[in-house]
Amino acid sequence: MELRLYDTLSREKRTFVPLDANNVRMYVCGPTVYDFAHIGNARPVIVFDVLFRLLRHLYGEAHVKYVRNITDVDDKINDRAARDFPGLPLNEAIRKVTEQTGKQFHADVDALGALRPSVEPRATEHIAEMREIIEKLIAGGFAYAAEDHVLFSPQAMNAANSVLPHYGALSNRSLDEMIAGARVDVAPYKKDNTDFVLWKPSKPGEPSWPSPAGIAAQGRPGWHIECSAMAWKHLGEHFDIHGGGIDLVFPHHENEVAQSCCAFHQQRMANYWMHNGFLQVESEKMSKSLGNFITIHELLQDWPGEVLRLNMLKTHYRSPIDWTMKSLEESAKTLDDWYRVAADVAPGKPAAPVIEPLLDDLNTPQAIAALHGLRGGDVNALAGSLRLLGFLSESNAQWEGRKQQASGVDAKEVERLIAERTAARSRKDFKESDRIRDLLAAMGVAIKDSKEGTTWEVAR
Ligand code: AMP
Ligand code: ZN
Repeated sequence: MELRLYDTLSREKRTFVPLDANNVRMYVCGPTVYDFAHIGNARPVIVFDVLFRLLRHLYGEAHVKYVRNITDVDDKINDRAARDFPGLPLNEAIRKVTEQTGKQFHADVDALGALRPSVEPRATEHIAEMREIIEKLIAGGFAYAAEDHVLFSPQAMNAANSVLPHYGALSNRSLDEMIAGARVDVAPYKKDNTDFVLWKPSKPGEPSWPSPAGIAAQGRPGWHIECSAMAWKHLGEHFDIHGGGIDLVFPHHENEVAQSCCAFHQQRMANYWMHNGFLQVESEKMSKSLGNFITIHELLQDWPGEVLRLNMLKTHYRSPIDWTMKSLEESAKTLDDWYRVAADVAPGKPAAPVIEPLLDDLNTPQAIAALHGLRGGDVNALAGSLRLLGFLSESNAQWEGRKQQASGVDAKEVERLIAERTAARSRKDFKESDRIRDLLAAMGVAIKDSKEGTTWEVAR
């Protein structure tokens, strides 16, 4: 069966045909590293990790290249650096912020069971490529320098009579409407109010680099140009899949397409544009002011990363997701059960009923329903399928052990109490055995008696 993916540009599900089946190429916009990533940021990480794993399954591990960038030059980073390290020179403070946040991001997404991308390029290491693209755009008449800025002109792009796509095609907006609706108090260096920044001057003390030809002052890149440069460097002028959250369609991705297609005279930047829907928390938009802003780091204090992963995949990636405590609890129960029956068996081939829905535009809810179907039957296929989806990274004993640790239950103490209870029962001291059972329950431990003896687990 073939893979079909929904493409934001053509607004339809299309059969996925890679440009080169020996080198399937995907780019996903990564984080701006200035703070802990929130659970909304985890959504593209998990969704595109599932796609990465599926592509590796279909085309072979060595034949898929996944690039996810790190944005390490940004006003938010500068502000955070000045606030957190007021005693340091700004550039040093910035390095501290981006290093710390980058490490934290890796710890978070590793815990979510996401494979590391093939390449994780940093914006600051691709300034030369950005300059080169900007110079091409100026030479082609798509961009111009003014007051130490370089601006891209969507109107010049749409006036060009060539293979180029139309500015606005990805986000389904008309440039004429944008022109009519644009604000009047436009920056003085812009010729038209729809022009956007490719390069800008740095303020004293801010990070700065030599500017594109024709500009004397040092400067720094705009945000959109970063991704055009990093995608070009690592994936070429035209590649297969470009992804990110739905909020990035406009202006970020529209501008990436404009920059890359105009610089390289291409009709397309990526053949498939994929966007995950937004995540909200307990039916409300997540925001710091509402007090419902949750970081991945905080959630990982209470839940194993695989629980967060399963909880995310229960909703189709294009639908909005409502992140609730109730759903998390259910996901935890499901995983406890899967660990019990499948973590320690030999993994079989991933099952067709799990793969088929994934091939239909990553229908993970249906794949999860198929996993439930395997639960009572072919547990080897269940184990293989779960592994393909990034679950069962540890044994059942390790899983249970971590649960006990997280709940603060001392396994040795529990074993000792159970032995005492068994002894009490064998001398028919039921008052004492009931007392111990209640004591264990109060500790959050549930016990189960069977012919083989007494087993226990931490009740969540
Ligand atoms: P940012 O660091 O804000 O650029 O976001 C990094 C990635 O997370 C981008 O792909 C965003 O589209 C995505 N993202 C941010 N907030 C959410 C959210 N609430 N739900 C889903 N995706 C999000
Ligand atoms: Zn990007």
